[in-house]
Amino acid sequence: LKKELIFSEKMNVASVISASVAHEIRNPLTAVRGFLQLLTQTDLKPDKKQMYGEICLAEIDRAEQIINDYLSLAKPYPEVVEKLDIGEEIQYICNILTPLANLTGAEIQVKQDYQLFVSGDRQKLRQSIINIAKNGIEAMADKSGVLKIEAYRRNNEVILSISDTGIGMTNDQINRLGMPYYSNKDKGTGLGMMVSFGFIKGMLGNINVKSEVGKGTVFDIAFPLLKM
Ligand code: ADP
Ligand code: MG
Repeated sequence: LKKELIFSEKMNVASVISASVAHEIRNPLTAVRGFLQLLTQTDLKPDKKQMYGEICLAEIDRAEQIINDYLSLAKPYPEVVEKLDIGEEIQYICNILTPLANLTGAEIQVKQDYQLFVSGDRQKLRQSIINIAKNGIEAMADKSGVLKIEAYRRNNEVILSISDTGIGMTNDQINRLGMPYYSNKDKGTGLGMMVSFGFIKGMLGNINVKSEVGKGTVFDIAFPLLKM
């Protein structure tokens, strides 16, 4: 009986991991698909071609990195901790999210200060923010809206703020964020927030969520500022 129990626990972990991988791999695949579509335009300028190609390659690498990250749950290895310029990262994230925003008719506004450094794993930071921003875009699917991504300094913290003008959440819904498989979407997996919150906590970040039903949602993430 005991052996069986252990086996079923393992099966459960395996199914959680594989569902997460599927969920997270979809983001880079969507980006690559969007940029490949742009690449098939005949009148494309060479510099644009070059840029779209580079983004595709970077996103394929990211997909591979995500698979590696999830495999590391099963077999931990030291992660790459780097000095990250938050302004640069959100500019990159904005480029990745643009095809999805175009698809749903959302506008993305980015406002960032540069030279604000935090310490963390670049792929995990990108993945966390993309998951949160993607939910924001999806929350505005039925109407046009604005997704704002901002980064600024507040005392000894770097604040990364992601807000949308979408459907919003009740307090009850906010409290459920991050629970595995909590989703209100037809094709949702309910794993995005669990992954994001875990990674952000790993970077010593604090998350504050404010939301109003029918008005929109703000995610404020505070990371410790890395002094140069
Ligand atoms: P999924 O997106 O697959 O449903 P997530 O873990 O990313 O799973 O999100 C869980 C749920 O939290 C979503 O289904 C949605 O109901 C709610 N949610 C998250 N972010 C927002 C947001 N910005 N606006 C409204 N609801 C949100
Ligand atoms: Mg999601």
